[in-house]
Amino acid sequence: MIIILKPGATEEQIDSIKEEMTKKGLIVQEIQGETTRMLGLAGDTTSLLDEAVMRYEFVERVARVSERYKLASRRFHPKNTVIELPGGERIGGGGLSVIAGPCSVESEEQILSIAREVKLAGAGFLRGGAFKPRSSPYAFQGLGLDGLNLLKIAREKTGLPIVTEIMSQEHCDVFARDVDIIQIGARNMQNFPLLRDVGSLGRPVLLKRGPSCTIDEMLQAADYVLVGGKSQVILCERGIRTFETATRNTLDISAVPVLQKRSHLPVVVDPSHGTGHWNFVYPMALAAVAAGADGIMIEVHNNPEAALCDGQQSITPLLFNRLMQKLNNLHKIISEDRGE
Ligand code: PEP
Ligand code: MN
Repeated sequence: MIIILKPGATEEQIDSIKEEMTKKGLIVQEIQGETTRMLGLAGDTTSLLDEAVMRYEFVERVARVSERYKLASRRFHPKNTVIELPGGERIGGGGLSVIAGPCSVESEEQILSIAREVKLAGAGFLRGGAFKPRSSPYAFQGLGLDGLNLLKIAREKTGLPIVTEIMSQEHCDVFARDVDIIQIGARNMQNFPLLRDVGSLGRPVLLKRGPSCTIDEMLQAADYVLVGGKSQVILCERGIRTFETATRNTLDISAVPVLQKRSHLPVVVDPSHGTGHWNFVYPMALAAVAAGADGIMIEVHNNPEAALCDGQQSITPLLFNRLMQKLNNLHKIISEDRGE
């Protein structure tokens, strides 16, 4: 529900209605429109009658939101969200954020070498899995907490903030302390208890789209994180399951403008998992930027043939460097076109 306030509504009046709605168990968020002030109410508003809200003389009108997601919705928050890390790095707000690194952290030498190379090429964030969600229990599962420590060393040496996946609620405290952007993997996009817990950690969350989840379900998952009130969300399109088998997943590029229309949250595209083949990563990364993505996430490995995970979809630092130049050129043109 959205409460549209009359122009003369005082702070005191607004505070009183906010307090009343919070007492009812609703989450109240202020929305500053072009000319009007509004309050967005998230939660179960079915028992709240429009008439009950209209009895406040400073309420202009009440509107019901038909979408199942609220906090992620652009209606609640017309302005684009920009994620800003303490070091000044940003995602959203017109720039192109590039997150690059190996699928998995394998050794200190490996992560340091890749971190240095992607930084040199212009990446702004280092990715690397320490806890890996593998389809087979016999496959490499990641180095766990040791992998996280190696990522911290790479951050210390390069200054790149780290993005890594959390798989279990038991690691919430460690991730809140050590990780700059907490990734929720595609397989956990609808792990609701995990989403709720991560939403209270106060770190930005990169939420990957579930392989068979709709845009609507993705935005509802974002609401699970946002309801915690402490964490911001970055949406990540990483391909969905379709009848097509020529690629690992079908990268839904149209998700970029659709998500940006429906939501204020920044949108990042992962063409590595989206295609599953290193030689398709380059064109699809460009396609993502052409579609207006706020960022991309790319798997880069210094020796893809020997990678312990996802070598077939990892590009070399050399190719990444070439891609970065093209991405930056294209991003410039796209930004001019959007008037940014
Ligand atoms: C990953 O980014 O390492 C990963 C496992 O991706 P996804 O969750 O999209 O499969
Ligand atoms: Mn991977």
